[in-house]
Amino acid sequence: MDNYIFRNAMGRFATGVTIITTQVEGEIHGMTANAFMSVSLDPKLITISIDHKARMLDFIKQSGQFAVSILKDEQQDISMHFAGQKESFSSVQFDKISGVPIIKDALAAVVCDVEEYNEVGDHTLFIGRVLDIELTDGNPLAFYGGQYGSYQMV
Ligand code: FAD
Ligand code: NAD
Repeated sequence: MDNYIFRNAMGRFATGVTIITTQVEGEIHGMTANAFMSVSLDPKLITISIDHKARMLDFIKQSGQFAVSILKDEQQDISMHFAGQKESFSSVQFDKISGVPIIKDALAAVVCDVEEYNEVGDHTLFIGRVLDIELTDGNPLAFYGGQYGSYQMV
C-alpha cells in the first residue's frame, strides 16, 4: 500500500498536539507528537510512539522519564518549532514538575517514569507511569489532515 494513502487516512483522525520533553545530563530535548494515548486508570499509564529516526528515542531511553505537554490553540508556533518546521524561538520557556521539564503554560502536562517500551515496526512505544499532572485554562490546538486548527464545541 502507498504511504500517502496510509498517512491520508491516519490524518483524518483529528488529534490534539503535544510536545514530548525529557532531560539528559542537564540538557532538555523537546519533540512534537500527536501519537499519544491514555492507557490505564489503575495504575495510571499513558503511551507515546517515537519514530526510530527521532533523536528523542535515545534521550528517553537514557533519562527513563518524559513529559507530555498538551498544547493550546495559541501555541502552534511551539508545535512547529519542535517539529523542526519553523525556527521560531531563540529560547523556549520550560517549567519543571517532579524534576522533569514541561512546556510553560501548556493546557495540560503529564510527567512519567518509563514503565516499559517496545519496538513496533519503525517506531518504539513507550508506556509511561504517571507521576504528576499540571493543568491550566485554555482551548486545545488541533491537528487534522496535516493541518493545524482549533477545536469547536457543537
Ligand atoms: P530534532 O529534530 O533535533 O528536534 C526537534 C526541534 O526541536 C528542533 O528544531 C530543535 O531545535 C528543537 N529543540 C529540541 N530541544 C530543544 C530545546 N531544549 N530548546 C529549544 N528547541 C529545542 N514524530 C514521532 O516520532 N511521533 C509522533 O507522534 C509525531 N507526531 C507529530 C505530530 C505533528 C503534528 C508533527 C508536525 C510532527 C510529528 N512527529 C512525530 C514528527 C517529529 O515532531 C519530528 O520528526 C521531529 O523533528 C523529531 O524530533 P527529534 O527528536 O529528531 O529532534
Ligand atoms: P501527515 O499528513 O504526514 O500525517 C498525517 C497522519 O499520518 C499523522 O497524524 C499520523 O497519524 C500519520 N503519520 C504521518 N507520518 C507518520 C509516520 N512516519 N509514522 C506513523 N504515522 C505517521 O502530516 P504532516 O503535517 O505532513 O506531518 C509532518 C511531519 O511529521 C511528517 O514528516 C510526518 O511523517 C511527521 N509525523 C510523524 C508522526 C509519527 O507518528 N511518527 C505523526 C505525525 C506526523
